[in-house]
Formats: sequence, structure tokens, C-alpha cells
Amino acid sequence: MAAVLDIRTLVLIYVGINIGQTVVLVYLWSVQRNYPPAKDWALGSLMFAIGLFLFSLRNQAPVVLSEIVSNLFLLPGLMLFNFGIVKATGREPPFASGVLLCVVANAVLAWFVLADPNYPVGVVTQNVVFLAFDIYTAYACLTAKTAKGNHTFRLIGVLFVLLAFICLWRVAGGVFDLTFSFSPALPRLFWIATSLISFPMITVLLTLHTSQRLQEEIHAQARRDTLTDAYNRRAFTEFADKEWSRSKRHGSSFSILSVDIDHFKLFNDQYGHQTGDAALVAVSRSAQAALRTNDIWCRYGGEEFVALLPDTSMDRALAVAERLRLAVERTTISSPRGSLNVSVSIGVAERSPHHADLSEVLAISDAALYKAKAAGRNRVVAAGREE
Ligand code: GH3
Ligand code: MG
Ligand code: MG
Repeated sequence: MAAVLDIRTLVLIYVGINIGQTVVLVYLWSVQRNYPPAKDWALGSLMFAIGLFLFSLRNQAPVVLSEIVSNLFLLPGLMLFNFGIVKATGREPPFASGVLLCVVANAVLAWFVLADPNYPVGVVTQNVVFLAFDIYTAYACLTAKTAKGNHTFRLIGVLFVLLAFICLWRVAGGVFDLTFSFSPALPRLFWIATSLISFPMITVLLTLHTSQRLQEEIHAQARRDTLTDAYNRRAFTEFADKEWSRSKRHGSSFSILSVDIDHFKLFNDQYGHQTGDAALVAVSRSAQAALRTNDIWCRYGGEEFVALLPDTSMDRALAVAERLRLAVERTTISSPRGSLNVSVSIGVAERSPHHADLSEVLAISDAALYKAKAAGRNRVVAAGREE
């Protein structure tokens, strides 16, 4: 037992686990190129694995390699890995301070290897740096505000608390001698078990977090119109169904604006489809900017948009519609033939208790829109107040 599980064997197992972790994280990075933290996890983990491998060569390779070069990889490697996790929680980690800490620690370590050899001081210095990074990461994870995946970060945070505890233990103990043979004493077992289990667990959790994030991204994309980035019809139906139930439950009102670009077929014919597309994007952007953040703006189809205004009565909705109409009128669309303008007609309807369902409100605002068109376009018409 003592021969198999001596400390060098354990460090080599650690190296093996770290290489496995690196392979997983590099793969994760390759499939998640547009997610910056994944790159930090992969590179940090790779550097840490290299450092750990060099560290395991202690007493076999030159000290410069096993104790100085190794720390040049170990400390920044752990920093990058940890800071990548902090980034994933939505915080911006202090890279400048982290690098400074690594530089100072590496200088101290080099001094106590070359000028005034003192192994215990080196171990303590190294663990003080690990401790600082682990405490910071644990704090960032445990206080993360990310709406989803919060449990994932909580769990990662707990694992970093354990890792920090171990570093503290090693700093407090002062000495970690690689030539020490394995002792079955409970505290040592706990330390080794925690170190060996934490990193693979963190890797699994990071993989889980990334796939969750990807799923959310796909879900979010499926709810957006690709040209204008406004919500699409599917998303609108989801929001509107919820709003319908909410307004019935609370007896609150909401309003619907049906918005349609005037003479858009003509516009397309005159200036081309591409300029037409640019106009759709510009109209959508201006209209959305004229709405409040909790209003839902959606491209309902073609050049027709719908806005859902929660907790809004007809009078307020009319004011919003007029503001929206003016915003679009003032929007300029750049084209090869100079600046162009379009206008919109808007029909407004307010939900009332006698409406059977959402489609009824939509039909009423659509009918008002039709009246706005018939009355000459570029205007707002309120359902039920046409005259
Ligand atoms: P009205 O004032 O009565 O609304 O007239 P209109 O020409 O806007 O209405 P109509 O429904 O006849 O034409 C809508 C046009 O919108 C036809 C189509 O070419 C154009 N359109 C729909 N979707 C797109 C799109 O994605 N891009 C571009 N460029 N044009 C589109
Ligand atoms: Mg139109
Ligand atoms: Mg139309």
C-alpha cells in the first residue's frame, strides 16, 4: 500500500486526471468557440497539467525545471482556469492583479530555490497563491447572479471552498514533502481524496453549464426573427398567452398595436428587395426604441409587426402608438439612391373582459389597422373609436 500510494504516485495520478480534464475542456472550447470562458478553462487546465507534470519530476529532473519552470505553469494556469470560471459567473476578474501576484510569487519561489534553498517556504508561497485564487473563485461562484445554472455555480463554489480549505491546511502545516510516503491517517486521506475528486467534478459541472447555456442560446434564437431580431410569432404567442392569463387573473388590461408599413410593395419595387430588408430592420429598431422594456415587440409576418403593451389602457396605448408612428416617420433608411423614409399605419385595441380569447383582440386591432389604411395611411386608429 505504502509503496503503491507514495506521494509521487499520487501526484502522477493527479497529472493523469489533469490531462483528462484538459482534453475534455479543450474539446469543450473547440465546440464553444464563441464562449470566451471555455478558452480560459482549457488553456488554464493545460498549463496546470504541464506544471504539475514538471513538479512530479522533483528529485529526478533539474530543480530549475521541477521547481521554477513548473511554477511558471502552475500559478498562471490555476489563475486562468479560476478566472475563466469567474468570467462565466458574469464578473470581470482582476487579471492585472492576478498576473502581478503570479510574478511576485514566482520571484519568491525562484529565490528560495536558487539563492536560499528552503523547500517549505516554497510550498507555503505556492499555496498562499492557490488559496487566494480559490477563495476569490469560491466567493464569485457562491454569489453568482446568473439566473439559470445558479445551482451549478453554487456547487462549483462549494468545491472551491473545499480546495481553499486544503490550501489553508497546507499553508498552516507549513511543509509538504514529496518524499513523504503515504500515510493512511484520516486527514491525509481526506486531503488527497478531495484534491483528486474536486477537479473532475468541476470539469463535469463546467461541461453541464456550457451545454445548458448553449440550450438557452438556441431557445432564445428560436424566438427571434432572423432579419430584424424582433421576437417572432411563436414567441409573441407565448408572451401573449401568459399576458392573457395574467390580465384575466388580476383584472388588469393590456393593449395590442398592429403595425404595418405603408406601400411597402411599392418601396420594394422601386428600391429593391435589399433596401426593403434594410427598411424592415430600421423600422423595427426605431419602433422598439419607442416602446418600454417590458413591452413585447414582434415581427408578425412580412412587413407587419405587433406590439403587446402589458398593463396599458387604450389612452396610454394610443399615445405610445403615436410616438411609435412618429419615430418610424423620422427614421432614415440609407440606400444607394440616398436617404429614404417609410411610414406605418397602426391599429390599436385594448383587451376587455368580454373578449373570448387573444385572437379576438388581435382581430379587432387588425380591423382598426385596416381602417387606418383606408383613411389614408401613416396614422393611428383606435378600435371602437374610428369615428
Ligand atoms: P399597404 O400600405 O396597404 O400595407 O401596402 P403594402 O404594399 O405595404 O402591402 P402589401 O401586403 O401589398 O405588400 C407587402 C409587401 O411587403 C410585399 C412584400 O414584397 C414585402 N415584404 C414582405 N416581407 C418582406 C421581407 O422580408 N423583405 C422585403 N424586402 N420585403 C418584404
Ligand atoms: Mg403594408
Ligand atoms: Mg401587410
